[in-house]
Amino acid sequence: MYLSEIHKILNHPKPNNFQEKEITEFLYDSRKLIHPESSIFIAIKSQKNDGHNYIKDLYKKGVRYFITEEKVNLEDATFFQVDNSVNALQKIAAFHRKKFNYPVIGITGSNGKTIVKEWLNHVLKGKFKIVRSPQSFNSQIGVPISVLGMTEEHNLALFEAGISKEGEMQNLAGIIRPDIGVFTGLGTAHESGFKNEAQKRKEKYKLFQGAEKIYAQERESGSGLLLTTYGYSEGQALRVIQEADENEGLRIIAEYQGKPMSFWIPFKDSVSKENALLCCLVALELGLSEQEVNNGLLGLEPVAMRLELKEGINACTLVNDTYNIDVTSLLSSLEFMRVQAGSKRQTLILSDIPQSQSDAESLFQYLAKEIDEKYPLYRIIGIGESIKIWRRYLNDKIKFEYYYSTEAFLDQFQYESFYNEFILIKGARSFRFERIVSRLEKMAHRTVLEIHFNALKNNLEVYSAILPEGVKTMAMVKASAYGSGSVEVAKLLESQGVDYLAVAYTDEGIELRKAGVKAPILVLNPEPSNYEALSRYQLEPEIYSLQQLKGLALFAAQLTKPLPVHIKLDTGMKRLGIEESDIPELIRVFRKANFSLSSVFSHLSASESKEHDAFTKEQADRFEKMSTILLEELNPKALRHLLNSSGISRFAKKYAYDMVRLGIGLYGIDEVREIGEKLQMVSTLKATVSQIKELPAGTSVGYGRRGRGDQPSKIATVSIGYADGLPRKLGEGKFSLQIRGQKAPIRGSVCMDMCMVDITHIPEAREGDEVIIFQNQADVNALADCLETIPYEVLTLVSERVKRVYVLD
Ligand SMILES: *Cc1c(COP(=O)(O)O)cnc(C)c1O
Repeated sequence: MYLSEIHKILNHPKPNNFQEKEITEFLYDSRKLIHPESSIFIAIKSQKNDGHNYIKDLYKKGVRYFITEEKVNLEDATFFQVDNSVNALQKIAAFHRKKFNYPVIGITGSNGKTIVKEWLNHVLKGKFKIVRSPQSFNSQIGVPISVLGMTEEHNLALFEAGISKEGEMQNLAGIIRPDIGVFTGLGTAHESGFKNEAQKRKEKYKLFQGAEKIYAQERESGSGLLLTTYGYSEGQALRVIQEADENEGLRIIAEYQGKPMSFWIPFKDSVSKENALLCCLVALELGLSEQEVNNGLLGLEPVAMRLELKEGINACTLVNDTYNIDVTSLLSSLEFMRVQAGSKRQTLILSDIPQSQSDAESLFQYLAKEIDEKYPLYRIIGIGESIKIWRRYLNDKIKFEYYYSTEAFLDQFQYESFYNEFILIKGARSFRFERIVSRLEKMAHRTVLEIHFNALKNNLEVYSAILPEGVKTMAMVKASAYGSGSVEVAKLLESQGVDYLAVAYTDEGIELRKAGVKAPILVLNPEPSNYEALSRYQLEPEIYSLQQLKGLALFAAQLTKPLPVHIKLDTGMKRLGIEESDIPELIRVFRKANFSLSSVFSHLSASESKEHDAFTKEQADRFEKMSTILLEELNPKALRHLLNSSGISRFAKKYAYDMVRLGIGLYGIDEVREIGEKLQMVSTLKATVSQIKELPAGTSVGYGRRGRGDQPSKIATVSIGYADGLPRKLGEGKFSLQIRGQKAPIRGSVCMDMCMVDITHIPEAREGDEVIIFQNQADVNALADCLETIPYEVLTLVSERVKRVYVLD
């Protein structure tokens, strides 16, 4: 794209001294800057952030072209001032799209867009040079960025489009202009932006206006459009005649254009089957032979991307990505590791990248350059035949070690040389790198708390969407992020643009700093004995009483710079906080102290409950009054914040002030139903069946011989006990765990490290099966009810010894 074209598209007069320039990067996230001279930065205002705040910084780094909504002037730089930056980006992309005549496939639907796009890419890439949306770039910003990737070198494009409400698809359709449409189905997921099914379908189909062909499943035939479908009945373009289990997958006998065909797909579940059939149909229609389609199906990966972060040997952290390999996913995994590793050493273990055999040289050259510019790797361990040549292109600073095969690595590698580092393990399926993962994993007992990063991102977005524009978010990561593990969660939140973090104690803040977290951190309960460490690690204390204020002032007097502090007001909670009558003295002492006031805040006692709304209003009124005085007297620019999770859900419009403090909602729980149902549970507590026993009638189970049954029965011993956070109170049938989707009541008493459950009614249960303790809000609520407590306590009960595994999918 040339600069003169952008002038034309945006109707922006060229200056007298205009110089032509090729723009190669359209940048909307300042952290992704690579080539400043040829980048144009699009400053976008969103709920969470404002791109205009990064202009100065990017200018310093050499960026000279900007699209902005505000008037900005900087020497030697070109600013395209527009009403709406996203619209401008879309216009540029639409213009770019029209330059190319090769087929563009547009993919939409409620579920499976990314999977179908990735699988189509996999099946078709032997035959076409494909440009496709990176990851799941399918939004109003993602789509134009994807389309701007089109070049003369490609001959097929695969773009996905996702919308959340009426009116959005029209825009995306104008940018993608698909020649071919692929519809992945409507799914049953609740999508709040639409009135009903019919409207949702109609809106999504807007992508396909102008497409010559639209591919979908049989079920869609009634929608009134002319579709080419696959399915089981007469009249389907691809008709399935028979399916049967074969090896680890499904054999499908079908008919296409009057010819019998046979496909094997490496999955058995129905969702994967549907997606794979859709890919078969599109591939056949694009001229691939039965054999070519089958070759492509062989390498399909079960999940588009699933990264796991686990504890490894020698204080290492493993990033396990042994499911999937291609350049795009390698770069996103490296990005993920960079965010998580901070300043720690980073190692990459990589296999050959199979599809690249033909052009391994240029691929490794490209990767070497990307790594050199963006990813601070300490060492690379290459495994395979073609990866050997990589050494030639890599920067000398990176240690490169090479093994011919996975077996050779497992045999010869000196495992002691891994120490306190991050290790990304990424390999093609045939290399079976899961063997490396199990070698490097720290042995621990088989009970884990899985933390789902996607759920965390989703929940953050749910709240952002209801906040008035410009309101900042403080994420509460106290108590080990409500049990989820504070360092990992804090880093993810930081990368998602959260403005502030809050912890309960200084030690928790120090742990975050040591792990490389840079965001401002509020300490709610700072202890005088730790003030020194607090300031050394740039943590910001809460001031909650006059006495504590005076102590902190004494300490701050010896600092060279003012100490940033936050004043907590007691408006009715009667816990920590400054009372209204203390305000005059507070002001007097504060003025003389070496402090800078970052924020003034208070906490609501019953924000979740309608019954106490009158009290909540009193609290809010008191907060308004007290905080106004403090801002006037101490710092008019200090932030004000009042709302916690359920406060946001119920009072975002009224009391959001400058910032909100998001706690339990972030982890997936909110009693306010409209919000709660959009949240996803972040953590899943899982154990394993260690042993199964058949018991005659009358046998007792466990300590105290309590779990006696009067019928013959079958029990499973499960690897979780009260020392892991499964309270003994749940024993003797009061609570059930889940095995193979069914409830298994606890039999007898819960022991320290295990418990026994009744599985008489689950004959298919096996030793080694996964046992779910909780995985959704309903489970956590049931557990809380049974323990006569609240979900907060349930989440924080899971003991430290339960291994945390972080999953990004
Ligand atoms: C824990 C805490 C929060 C978060 O509350 P949730 O109900 O979990 O959202 C907010 N503010 C303060 C002061 C807290 O201690």
